[in-house]
Amino acid sequence: MTRKILTVVGARPQFIKAAAVSRAIRETDGLDEVMIHTGQHFDADMSDVFFDELDIPPPAYRLDIHGGGHGDMTGRMLSAIEPVLLSEKPDWVVVYGDTNSTLAGSLAAAKLHIPIAHVEAGLRSFNRRMPEEINRVLTDHVAALQFCPTAQAVENLEAEGIRTGVHHVGDVMYDATMFAAKRAKDRSTIIADMSLAPKHYALATVHRAENTDDPAALRAVIDYLNNEAKKFPIVLPLHPRTRHAAEKFGIQLDRLRVIGPVGYLDMATLLGGAAAVYTDSGGLQKEAYFHRVPCTTLRDETEWVETVTHGWNRLWKGADFAARREIGEYGDGRAAHKIAEIVKAA
Ligand code: UDP
Repeated sequence: MTRKILTVVGARPQFIKAAAVSRAIRETDGLDEVMIHTGQHFDADMSDVFFDELDIPPPAYRLDIHGGGHGDMTGRMLSAIEPVLLSEKPDWVVVYGDTNSTLAGSLAAAKLHIPIAHVEAGLRSFNRRMPEEINRVLTDHVAALQFCPTAQAVENLEAEGIRTGVHHVGDVMYDATMFAAKRAKDRSTIIADMSLAPKHYALATVHRAENTDDPAALRAVIDYLNNEAKKFPIVLPLHPRTRHAAEKFGIQLDRLRVIGPVGYLDMATLLGGAAAVYTDSGGLQKEAYFHRVPCTTLRDETEWVETVTHGWNRLWKGADFAARREIGEYGDGRAAHKIAEIVKAA
């Protein structure tokens, strides 16, 4: 009997994670996948490029929902996902991470009594002002299977009373990094195209609402990066949200090497050659470690606490780097296959 998995994605980090799991699903007998793309991220360089580069089959459903407030966007997604679930009748709904698409997919499935598997479960910033924190807490509480990337994530769930269906499988982002590193070798030319000298530049990304919604906060981050740019050139692939915010607030970015958002293979190449990373992204903090590049996180807290305790990451306003140790808990690059096997057996 074949099990039908319905995957809900919508934002950049979800395409990257789903690419790894989708590949594992295709390599596992007895599983079939149908994908919904909510449209939360829709620009070619925030969406299509990941489908092309990472061999994700075209989604069966494109809902084209983006913009508006959080409630408006999530509500529209919820009512658009429900009829798809009713007609597809999947055995499982698989959601990723912590975006509005994650929450909408989870709520739609929970109300129809379709079991949910949450990939990247159990992460907590303990900052409820982050929209992502609300999305991940609620999703974890309606999911039947919790795929945790770290031991800390398992502990976080336990502290909230979630003890069944919890699996520490490792981090699918590590699977994605290994895939991209191989593929980028002969497909990405960004280092030469930008005339960068390996290990003599840094890579930065900024897009969290806490850094972009408030002019003083964004100015503080850009001032910090401008100052760091005295040490080495800083390449900043700019998220559309940050570009709009900088334009709106009249914040100049001319001391940084600003480019548009890049595809995952260029990102892997840029990371591989970087001397340092500055970011408020969740994914990038770990990818920096996967490439053994020190990271400074442009936030007041992080969900990926082991990157800090093991000396690969620090908070920009916090203590210096701790002594460096390897991090064992992200797995062996087979997290996605473990997920596919567990869903199949569940
Ligand atoms: N990323 C990318 N191109 C870019 C910026 C980021 O491919 O121009 C990748 C990055 O390597 C990471 C993922 O997008 O894997 C992170 O997504 P984002 O920062 O949007 O979300 P978060 O990880 O904070 O949820």
